[in-house]
Amino acid sequence: MRWKWILLCVFIYGSALYSSLHVYSGQNKTTVEDAGKLLPVKMKIVYDVHSTSDLQQWVKKANETGETIAIAGMQHSQGGHTLYPNGTLFDMKGYNKILDFSPKKKKITVQSGVTWADIQKKINPYGLSVKVMQSQNIFTVGGSLSVNVHGRDIRYGSLIDTVDSFRLLTPDEKIISVSREENSDLFSYVIGGYGLFGVILDVTLELADDELYHHRSVVMNYNDYENYFREKVKQDDSVRMHLARISVAPETFLKEMYVTDYVLTDHQDKREKYLELKKEEMIALPKFMLGLSRYSDWGKDLLWETQKMYFLKNDGKYETRNNVMRSDSEFMEYENPNRTELLQEYFFLLSILLHTSMIQEEFWKKKNLIY
Ligand SMILES: Cc1cc2nc3c(=O)[nH]c(=O)nc-3n(C[C@H](O)[C@H](O)[C@H](O)COP(=O)(O)OP(=O)(O)OC[C@H]3O[C@@H](n4cnc5c(N)ncnc54)[C@H](O)[C@@H]3O)c2cc1C
Repeated sequence: MRWKWILLCVFIYGSALYSSLHVYSGQNKTTVEDAGKLLPVKMKIVYDVHSTSDLQQWVKKANETGETIAIAGMQHSQGGHTLYPNGTLFDMKGYNKILDFSPKKKKITVQSGVTWADIQKKINPYGLSVKVMQSQNIFTVGGSLSVNVHGRDIRYGSLIDTVDSFRLLTPDEKIISVSREENSDLFSYVIGGYGLFGVILDVTLELADDELYHHRSVVMNYNDYENYFREKVKQDDSVRMHLARISVAPETFLKEMYVTDYVLTDHQDKREKYLELKKEEMIALPKFMLGLSRYSDWGKDLLWETQKMYFLKNDGKYETRNNVMRSDSEFMEYENPNRTELLQEYFFLLSILLHTSMIQEEFWKKKNLIY
């Protein structure tokens, strides 16, 4: 019976993939959408940005004709809020040069269309690493600054803490330097400002030392997480990064968790051996399983159990900081024209979240609705 289901799911998944290739292949370049694919927007013109002087001229032109400007990196910020119908779009992906790199000062200056993957490639041979970035390395630096991202490293705050300075092309076509000292009010407006204050041109970022970590993975009930985090993670400086996942699979829904700590090892001399930047090895299998999980509850359970097993199997594994932050998550790409997946992030104070779920559980227990 289960095999019939698997075959059916393979068929559905395969047909969806095939038809998606047809729908998107003929699309007009000025019809643009973010990775959520729910709200295609017709722009008047899309510029591929390669030079600062072009950008300056295009902003001037837009001012003269009263056009509205939107800015795009990899377009993974979803919800349609980053595009203006019938406006001018600057596609920043081609504005991607590394302008300066000083291993001694541990600083790098890049144009805002550079991705984290580009930076990792450049700095890895020098034993350096990014301080804060997303878990994935596919995003542009400009898009990441504009949403002020957070990452797995729990010892730094969000990205803003690691930005030294940047240059900004303002709506009145001026190019200004922004740092904590110069035009300082704009520093916190632009970082996290979703492109509303101008175009970020180039950015100087502070870098950290690349380090060797070992994975420590544990499965637990969500009730135990708060103590675990307080005692085993927060108080232990050798835990440099931390990842916690809670189940959304029916059998263990919002109960079971697995966590992975990336712990500084005493064997830093072994780092050389693990230096090579990893490539995503397994794509087809996780992609297939993710596909199954979209269509059935047992698929969701299967995916959860497999992911959990994978993380537990890696317990004790050595990995450099650069490699921990190196997933390109190709397996998550979803090409179905009739369905989509949206990333939603909720920010809670941890103790409030855990406390609320405990109160809820107590409440339902009293009502004899859960046991
Ligand atoms: C699979 C996945 C995993 C993620 N993981 C994390 C995570 O771990 N932590 C986290 O914090 N977030 C995470 N995110 C969210 C992600 O960090 C943001 O969506 C980020 O903006 C993506 O960068 P981008 O290059 O796609 O930016 P875009 O979506 O293209 O742009 C984002 C915003 O920045 C503006 N912008 C882009 N370039 C410039 C520029 N040069 N100057 C001025 N404004 C500009 C755009 O107008 C837009 O408003 C994740 C998203 C996905 C899809």
